[in-house]
Amino acid sequence: MMIATICRPVRSPWEEPMDRCFRFFPCLADPGRRSSLCLKLCLVTIHLIYAGVLFLFDGDLIERTKKEPWYTALYLLLFVVTLIQYFATSLSSPGYVLEAMLTVNERSAANRKAPETSKNGSYVISTEGNLIARNGSGSYSSSWSKLVADLYPFSIRTWTCTYCNMEQPPRAKHCHDCDKCVLQFDHHCVWLGNCIGQGNHCKFWWYLFEETALCLWTGVLYISYLKAHITRVWWQDAIMIILLITLLVCLVFLLLLLLFHSYLILTNQTTFELVRRRRIHYLRGIPERVHPFSRGVRRNLYNFCCTRSTIYGVEPLPTPEEIEEKSRPYTCLDAVTCRCC
Ligand SMILES: [Zn+2]
Ligand SMILES: [Zn+2]
Repeated sequence: MMIATICRPVRSPWEEPMDRCFRFFPCLADPGRRSSLCLKLCLVTIHLIYAGVLFLFDGDLIERTKKEPWYTALYLLLFVVTLIQYFATSLSSPGYVLEAMLTVNERSAANRKAPETSKNGSYVISTEGNLIARNGSGSYSSSWSKLVADLYPFSIRTWTCTYCNMEQPPRAKHCHDCDKCVLQFDHHCVWLGNCIGQGNHCKFWWYLFEETALCLWTGVLYISYLKAHITRVWWQDAIMIILLITLLVCLVFLLLLLLFHSYLILTNQTTFELVRRRRIHYLRGIPERVHPFSRGVRRNLYNFCCTRSTIYGVEPLPTPEEIEEKSRPYTCLDAVTCRCC
């Protein structure tokens, strides 16, 4: 009895309530999901603080709400839409290679039918209505392997992810945070707790746009308050000035990020491709100013905005002739014929 008491591991006082909590909410037992949930709670709290302080201190805004309720209603609508967009992006699928592979193999096994091919030679894979059985990558890998091999027409070998043990189409990358290969991998967003890839890049851009607009509008309301009420109650002014400074820093960051992602979309690039260009095998040797996957600004924009998130496209590597054509210097005639569009 004595020995048992001495040998019992020392438990901190908060471990028992935590265990009880994990029994009711099993998802919280995973440290990754716990930190992601904490981040989401932090984001909602920060938004509530900024809007709450404004409505608490600014009497003029309350008066204005009584006279022009549509103005405050619009602001609150943007506030709610931004938070919904944040959660929608956070919970959306970035487009995993495993999903695309199982879809291709299931279809091939059921119909003996290859995926549809678009005009530019890229394959279109729809996951709509397909039951995706997560049974590993072993069973019907031949259809997927053949499809991926076709995407590397000038390469002697395809690229296999050493972690997932499956062939990666061009532009896919293994994410070490999600432990999955992502189609058209952009980056892993810590703030969203999710990867950004082909399936949710559009949602991510809209989230950035809405967050920037909300930040800008909140900043205008803060500046209007300070202009009208400065030197009335010093501690209120101090809180408002501190919040305004942090808000402006966030606004500059968001604005730059929004512009950066707009540029990536117009040129059909990803953050990963831009940042690690020299280390990516399929981009080596291509001049810096050439965007190999770009189909022109209009087509890039159309593909980005109008492709449903349940449809994934895997693009083949461009041929040397296509690269040469894209490398050709611009002339006056190109400006007239809108070559880059
Ligand atoms: Zn992988
Ligand atoms: Zn990830």
